[in-house]
Amino acid sequence: MTTSRPSISLPWDSIDTVLLDMDGTLLDLHFDNYFWAEYVPRCYAKKTGLSLTESKSKLADYSDRVRGQLEWYCLDYWSEKLALDIEALKKEVDHKILFRPQVIEFLDFLKTNKKRIILATNAHPKTLELKLMRTDFSGYFSVLSSSHEIGYPKEEIAYWEALTHKYTITPKRSLFIDDSLPVLQAANQFGIRYLLGIAKPDLQKDEVDCSPYTGIRDFSQLF
Ligand SMILES: [Mg+2]
Repeated sequence: MTTSRPSISLPWDSIDTVLLDMDGTLLDLHFDNYFWAEYVPRCYAKKTGLSLTESKSKLADYSDRVRGQLEWYCLDYWSEKLALDIEALKKEVDHKILFRPQVIEFLDFLKTNKKRIILATNAHPKTLELKLMRTDFSGYFSVLSSSHEIGYPKEEIAYWEALTHKYTITPKRSLFIDDSLPVLQAANQFGIRYLLGIAKPDLQKDEVDCSPYTGIRDFSQLF
């Protein structure tokens, strides 16, 4: 296992705004992976009488149909679709909601350097609220934006047009960090100038390939 963490130099003087994703970027994606791949299938199996394997396969099928769309991130959609109280289930395992390493130190660095910090998440507002109850990073941010209030998921160019318009963001002077390649691709196509991926969004899984973007292993690489 490699432990080297080369520093990533950015032209900070040319960056006014830092747009940050939440799940898999600020927070360990293990919570979400565990919740959707283990906990929900178990609860759904119990409710429907399906075996765990059948439950997992049915959920994977449902999930594939709306992947990358707002519904995929919508608590109300899944609560209705599965007849389960998804918000309540998330609360049952919310002790798994944790920061990724060096996040607060990075936010302190940005604050000290007077950067405007904006949370740009696909998470549903109720999920955002729940996560903030466990990891209150809101004080660092001038905007906490869920794509549900924008009307498009981050995977679409229309999202970037609407977000930058709504919050008067200059794409050429912005850095965006996200663990999703399709999302980085859309931001790139729209014209966000500086883009970084996350090499290890789920702290309990192996590193992932972020190419063509540089992947951060640890936020301390940036300051
Ligand atoms: Mg993410």
